[in-house]
Amino acid sequence: MIAIALDGPAGAGKSTIARTVAKQLGFIYIDTGALYRTIGLAATAAGTDTDNAEAVAALLDSLSIQLTFRGDEQRVLLNGEDVSDRIRTPEASMMASKVSAIPAVRTFLLSLQRKMAEENNVIMDGRDIGTVVLPNAQIKLFLTASVECRADRQRHGCQAGGCQERYGEARLCRFSSGHCTAEARRGRPDRGYQLAGAASIRGTADRNHQPPSQRLIYKLQEGFIMAWLYHFCVGVCALVFRIFYPYRIVRKPKLEGPAIFCANHISLIDMLFLAFTSRRMVHFMAKAE
Ligand code: C5P
Repeated sequence: MIAIALDGPAGAGKSTIARTVAKQLGFIYIDTGALYRTIGLAATAAGTDTDNAEAVAALLDSLSIQLTFRGDEQRVLLNGEDVSDRIRTPEASMMASKVSAIPAVRTFLLSLQRKMAEENNVIMDGRDIGTVVLPNAQIKLFLTASVECRADRQRHGCQAGGCQERYGEARLCRFSSGHCTAEARRGRPDRGYQLAGAASIRGTADRNHQPPSQRLIYKLQEGFIMAWLYHFCVGVCALVFRIFYPYRIVRKPKLEGPAIFCANHISLIDMLFLAFTSRRMVHFMAKAE
C-alpha cells in the first residue's frame, strides 16, 4: 500500500489538493479532521465537558467511529449513524479543536488512521500525519501558500459552516488562476522535505507567462531578496566579529535535511554565532520576553 502524508498550515489548501490528487491516483483521501470533529460531536451530545480530559477519555470506550466512502466522498459513521453533515458546524469545529488537545483522543484515533493506511492507498492530511501517524509514508508533502492567500481562505472559513464543497471549488479556482502560489515538497521519510513538487512546478510555469515586472514581484514574495539581504548581513556581522571579538568555529556541522539548532544561551548574541556556522539561511525563534 502507498501512503501520502500531507501537511501544511491552515488555509494552505490541503484538502483541495488532497481530493484532487486522490481522484487522479485512485487513492482514498482521508480527512482526519473529520475524526476529531466526530469525537467533539459525540462529547457534546453526551453532555461531556470537553475541558475535562478524563471525562472525554472515559467516553472513548463507548464510541465506534467508521469511515466509509460514497464514491470518492468520505462519510463518517458514529456508532452506526452517519454524522458527516453534523460535524461541519462551527460548534463541532470548536469542540474538535478542544478534544484534539487530549492525548487519549489522539491515541484513540491513531490506530484507526493507521489501519486505514494499511488497508488502502491513502492520502491523509492533518496535524501529526507525517510525523506521528504515518512516519514511514512513502511520500510526504508539505503544502504552503502565501499569507494573503491563506488569510483569504480563512476569512471565507466556510469549512466549519457546512459549505465546504463550495469553498473547495473556490480554492481550486484560485490555485489554477495563479494568484495564490502553492509550493509542495516531497521527500523520503528519513530525509525530510526536499524536492519541489507538482504544485510548485505548475506555479512556476504559470509565472513564466507573466510580464517581467510581475515575475520580479513573485521573486520578491518568495524571499530571494530577503535571502541575499540575510547572507549579506550575516557576512558583515561575521567580519565585524572577527575583528572586534575573535571567535573560532571548532566544527561546522554537516547538515542533510531539516535541522533545528538549540543555543546554550551563553549570551544573547549566540544566535548570530549559529548563523555564522551555517551556510543556510537560519530562521530564529525565541520567546518574546
Ligand atoms: O481540519 P479540520 O478543521 O476539520 O480539523 C478540526 C480540528 O481537528 C482542527 O482544528 C485540529 O484541532 C484537529 N485536528 C488535529 N489533528 C488532525 C486533524 C485535525 O488535531 N490530524
